[in-house]
Amino acid sequence: MSNLLPTSVLVDPGNGEMAGRTRRYQKRFGDLAGLFADEAAFAEMARSRGSEVAYQVDEFRPSERAGDVIFGTSTLYPGKVGQEYAFTRGHIHAIGDQPEIYHCQSGHGVMLMELADGTVHAEEMRPNMVVYVPPYWIHRSVNVGAGPFVTLFCYPADAGQDYGIIARSGGMRDLVIDDGAGGWTLARNPRYRARALAGAA
Ligand code: ZN
Repeated sequence: MSNLLPTSVLVDPGNGEMAGRTRRYQKRFGDLAGLFADEAAFAEMARSRGSEVAYQVDEFRPSERAGDVIFGTSTLYPGKVGQEYAFTRGHIHAIGDQPEIYHCQSGHGVMLMELADGTVHAEEMRPNMVVYVPPYWIHRSVNVGAGPFVTLFCYPADAGQDYGIIARSGGMRDLVIDDGAGGWTLARNPRYRARALAGAA
């Protein structure tokens, strides 16, 4: 195996653009069907803003080898579907014991985390705050601000992503919603179904 060459990339903290990225992907609002609790509000959003980018990931992926790291930026645009703030689909790492860090570059967001047993933890993020997502925590970014919520992430290169753990339970246990005073609060997701845990009776 040949050695990789050292590399630097430049990140624009305002919009997450990463010069030197190896890959970019985008999700549009129209791609997010079934994820928000208020289906009528989502249908309206999909009609009016379905072709707009909801979030974008620029990444630098040197390899997918164990021991390497992948890093990049996540840029999540603001919006609400009903009372629910815009979020990324979210995942757990396919290799579950792999952690991740997120460093807020700009904006105002929440890192919503959840264990398979439904334990919830939310960390509010503002510029220069770093959140550590420990192994085995499902994680999703939520934009509770008025502008883009930009984070720089870094995770083990072989971790992979499993999105199905959220889909199978009807979403994450809690929703991040408008508290009616310009802030945010958590509310139970009425569609959430507790996961059957390995070893449970
Ligand atoms: Zn992750």
